[in-house]
Amino acid sequence: MHSALLSDGKLVTAKEYEATRHGMILFCMDPTCKVPVHFVKGDVLNSPHFKTSGKANSIHKESCGFAKKLTFKDTVSKVNEYQEALRAQGIREFVVRLNMDKLDPDYVPKEVNRGIGEKEQEPPPEIDKKLIKEKPETPSSLSSLKSIKKLYQSVSPDLLASIVISIKGNQIPISKLICHYETAHNLFWKGDTLEVPYFIYGVVQKVVRREKVWFINLASNAYFFTLVIFEKYFKHFSYRDEDLLNKEILAMGLLRKNEYQKDKPSTEMIIKSDDYIEFL
Ligand SMILES: [Zn+2]
Repeated sequence: MHSALLSDGKLVTAKEYEATRHGMILFCMDPTCKVPVHFVKGDVLNSPHFKTSGKANSIHKESCGFAKKLTFKDTVSKVNEYQEALRAQGIREFVVRLNMDKLDPDYVPKEVNRGIGEKEQEPPPEIDKKLIKEKPETPSSLSSLKSIKKLYQSVSPDLLASIVISIKGNQIPISKLICHYETAHNLFWKGDTLEVPYFIYGVVQKVVRREKVWFINLASNAYFFTLVIFEKYFKHFSYRDEDLLNKEILAMGLLRKNEYQKDKPSTEMIIKSDDYIEFL
């Protein structure tokens, strides 16, 4: 665990922690847990961190994000919860650059036109060099759904919650970009999303193939959330219905409203190839 709660309710990161300044009374930072933890100094193999002793009352509670290895869905949910708390307290964040251009079948590399494509000239991310050194498994950039899946499976939820994603010149807290489809839907209909690809988690409920468009529906009674593939991209999409049905997926795409669906709010995500879906 990279952050802990102090006795005054403030959060401290293991890197900033000093016993003389912060005291020895420390608690698990998960709001549903808050059991006593202690500080562990870093060494060659491990960065400084906080941990439970495993004795008496110093054992993470069942609901805690550090009690056991989390599923992808639970990690997404905990990162969302933690990120709000970390941001509210101004805990230092670091930037991970995300560029999915190469997955887009329509993408044309801009090598020839360098200088025109301003978006290529993003400022270098303010990577925390020490953090990267201590945690070499934390990437400085992501360029596939596989790398996002790996990140969520290998990095602790509080560290994930201190990541801000740099994408197409925008910076977005990771929990607002990589989220459950319900979260993306709500942010989108509130006007709180940007014109960048979003990454949503969901379970496929239905696949409908029409002559010129295919739909992959994710579950909800209150609204629709549908992945859409247009005819032009059929050739890039090889999954059969049985490959998709009832599977947990991470999907990437631009969000848009389905204006034809009048009875309940309906969000569509345009996908273009197999690479826009990762099975979890
Ligand atoms: Zn805990």
